[in-house]
Amino acid sequence: MTNPCIICVAITGSLPTKTNNPAVPITVSEQVESTHEAFEAGATIVHAHVRNDDETPSSDQEKFAALKDGIEKHCPGMIIQFSTGGRSGAGQTRGGMLPLRPDMASLSVGSNNFPTRVYENPPDLVHWLASEMLTYGVKPEIEAFDLSHILKAKEMADKGQLAGTPYIQFVMGVKNAMPVDRDVFDYYIHTVRRLFGDDAPWCAAGIGANQLTLNEWAIAAGGHARTGLEDNVRLNRDTLASSNAALVRRAVDICDKNNRPVATWQEARRILGLPVPKAATIGRAA
Ligand SMILES: [Zn+2]
Repeated sequence: MTNPCIICVAITGSLPTKTNNPAVPITVSEQVESTHEAFEAGATIVHAHVRNDDETPSSDQEKFAALKDGIEKHCPGMIIQFSTGGRSGAGQTRGGMLPLRPDMASLSVGSNNFPTRVYENPPDLVHWLASEMLTYGVKPEIEAFDLSHILKAKEMADKGQLAGTPYIQFVMGVKNAMPVDRDVFDYYIHTVRRLFGDDAPWCAAGIGANQLTLNEWAIAAGGHARTGLEDNVRLNRDTLASSNAALVRRAVDICDKNNRPVATWQEARRILGLPVPKAATIGRAA
């Protein structure tokens, strides 16, 4: 049995700027172009934030809508995931784009420290974001910055606050949060399997130079992989990544070494329990 690997590309994020790497896409048109290149290289999920023209994080629904339209037009079938992370605003503005009905959205279910601040995810906000995702048919990706977040996802799934089997993303290597630790990583996998079953899909993301380590660990262990300029702007210590696609190609190479086929968008949608539109009905301007 082959187990295709879903590659998620986190194209922009809320922190890196063109000063860090000129390839970071900031405008919506740059984001669509960068996503298209990454899709052609093998990515089937795009994780996206939007930015203001001065590169600061934005919650602008019109930008999210334009990005969604552009990706649907140029990357038919690709899974669109919007971030509800905390940097673009506080409270419910973080979920303001959910009525646009992206395929997925990130959901943090607990709080933790970030490099210079607390990443605040109070229970009432978490439950509101989850209920909005249920209302608009948006599949959450649970961002597990800590073991407790995986167990919280199980509790929420049991209460009907999350639809289907949660897709858990292990996030490691954020300063002041969970470091890159192989025993913890293995225990995360063990916990996902115990709570959600052996076939439950999971993914892993590493920050900075840890991106490569987490790609290697996740792909070898049968998980899915996240890459992209949001998490890391370098190919190695001395070289900036030339594009999001360059980082996707690096993940594809790791899949090849591990005999993991790279998931097509149809396979990725099936693995995640998302609808699979017929090729003939997508990619057309409505
Ligand atoms: Zn993000």
